[in-house]
This record gives sequence, C-alpha cells and structure tokens, in this order.
Amino acid sequence: KRIISTELMEEDYKIENSLRPKLLKDYIGQEKAKNNLKVYIEAAKQRKEALDHVLFYGPPGLGKTTLAGIIANEMDVNLKVTSGPAIEKPGEMAAILNNLQEGDLLFVDEIHRLNRQVEEVLYPAMEDYAIDIIIGKGASARSIRLDLPKFTLVGATTRAGMLTAPLRDRFGVVHRLEFYTVEELKTIIMRSAGVFKVEMDEEGALEMAKRSRGTPRLANRLLKRVRDFAQVKYDGRITKEVANFALDLLEVDKLGLDHIDREILYTMMDKFAGGPVGLDTIAASIGEDSGTIEDVYEPYLIQNGLIVRTPRGRMVTDLCYKHFGIEQKQK
Ligand code: ADP
Repeated sequence: KRIISTELMEEDYKIENSLRPKLLKDYIGQEKAKNNLKVYIEAAKQRKEALDHVLFYGPPGLGKTTLAGIIANEMDVNLKVTSGPAIEKPGEMAAILNNLQEGDLLFVDEIHRLNRQVEEVLYPAMEDYAIDIIIGKGASARSIRLDLPKFTLVGATTRAGMLTAPLRDRFGVVHRLEFYTVEELKTIIMRSAGVFKVEMDEEGALEMAKRSRGTPRLANRLLKRVRDFAQVKYDGRITKEVANFALDLLEVDKLGLDHIDREILYTMMDKFAGGPVGLDTIAASIGEDSGTIEDVYEPYLIQNGLIVRTPRGRMVTDLCYKHFGIEQKQK
C-alpha cells in the first residue's frame, strides 16, 4: 500500500470528516473557484433560489467533496451524498431525486461512472426539475412527467474527459481544482494540527507540506503518521527533525516520491539511459500496469518536471538526475 496514494484509504475516513472545513473562509487555496462560488452563493441566497448545478473536476484528494459540503452549509440546505457506481438503475436515481426537498444539494461523486440510462434521468431533472416516468406496457405505455423540487446537483469527477457532452452541458458552473502550493499545504497542516491538538512548529509543517504532492488528503495523512512518531519516539511535538525522521522512515522523499516513483525513474535512467522509452516498456520492466502508471504515477512526475512526454516516449529530465544526484550517462 502506498502511503502517498491520493486515493481515499480506510484510515482516512475517520479523520477526514473531522478535518473538513465547513465554511468557505476556512477552505484554503483554490482562490478562483472560491471567489466565483462566493458570488453565486450570495446571488442565489438573495433571490431565494437553488444554486446552479456545479461540476468539480481534478485529481483525487484536492477537496471536491469538501467544497460540496461547504456549499450546502453556506446555502443552509440539506446535503445528500451518492456516487456514480452506487446507482445502478434509473429507478434508483428517480427515487433519490423524488425524495429531495426544495433547495437540497445532491452530491454525486465519480459522476463519470453513472451508466447511460441512469444519466438520462438526470437530463430533465437538471434542466426542468422534472422526471419522466413510463406507466403501463406495450401499446398502452405512456410517459408522465413528475415535478421535482428545485435542487442543486454538485458533481465531482477525476476524469472530466469521460463525461458525456449532454451531461457536461447541463452544469452552469464548472471548476477545475488545482494542485496546492507548498505554502497552502502548510496552512492546511497547521489547521489540522490545531484540530488534532498536536504541538507543531512551522518548520515541521513545512517539511510535510513539501512532501504532500500538492494534495490536502495526503498532507493530512502524513500529519497523522508523523504525529504517531512524535508521540512514541519524541516528546509529542512535531519539529523539522521529527518530521524528517518520520518521513524518511516512511520512505517519502523530499519531493514526495515513494519507492514506486523511484523505481520508475531509476529504471528509465539505468536501463534506458534516460529515454525516450515507451510507457509499455517501462511498465513491463517494473511489473506495473501501464494504465496505472499513466493515471496515477506519471501526472505528478510530469507536473514536477522530472519526466517529459515526447512523441518517441517518456524521457527523464536534467532535474531528475539532479534530484537523485546521478550523473547522466553518455548516449
Ligand atoms: P476529493 O473529494 O477531491 O477527493 P476531499 O474533499 O475528500 O477530496 O478532501 C480530502 C481531505 O483534504 C478532506 O478531509 C479535507 O479535510 C482536506 N481538504 C481538501 N481541500 C482542502 C482545503 N482547501 N482546505 C483545507 N482542507 C482541505
């Protein structure tokens, strides 16, 4: 199990809810999304209307679910939560919609995974606040329209490209969440340490922030692990030294790279003289699935300038050689 996986792990469930900011003003970073939402929320409240449907997309752990909760809270409406894979039949979606109350916020995580028939129930629901129900069978079948209360759909997806055009077009507000800066992550870690009531100095927070891969979920997970080390091996206080000691033991390096990242990069530098080398070849060399490398490992390595994509394959950069202190082989 990768400690630096940005996917939700079982150990996160308990802590995540306690760490989720409830108000927009406590939500760190994502200034553009935040400023726009502030205006939309204010306007909808003044008009006493439901907020327009909102779509958030971006890598896991960047705060999509958190924002949905904040919107419900700021609008002072109920939040109902479901996810794409959880709804299998159109009738289930119709039932969820039919049970909503005026103004409610329905959050659908992994919305790209809704199947087509379920998705089609959403079209009239989002556009006209109505669902069409077929009554009877064969020649006597007819469709009746059932009105729904005005509600807000908030969808989240890690893969915006997989959304169908008719669904995407029905969102009035669309925001891409960005990776967080080290400074923002530091602020998040300080805030979480406050919630955990753990003593920590700024330098300790900075060490964890640097190794969190731009992702708040990971920042909070590292804090939780480091806190354990601080408590058991030290006097409970998280300093730079404690953070470094713990993170080194966890094998998360200064850039937030773990052993799988390192294996990918070392393979490229050692066996393929830095590339260019095809994704499938890398995958075969380290015994990983090439899709996983492309979706999970590579984006962060590219984002940090350690590898680049070229038409002839992936190449490691000078920065990568420098990071590992390895001399570049002559080609
Ligand atoms: P996503 O839905 O995008 O996978 P979440 O909303 O579940 O991500 O966020 C993961 C964790 O990170 C949450 O527990 C929350 O505490 C924290 N978090 C995310 N974004 C922020 C933020 N902007 N400020 C503070 N904490 C955040």
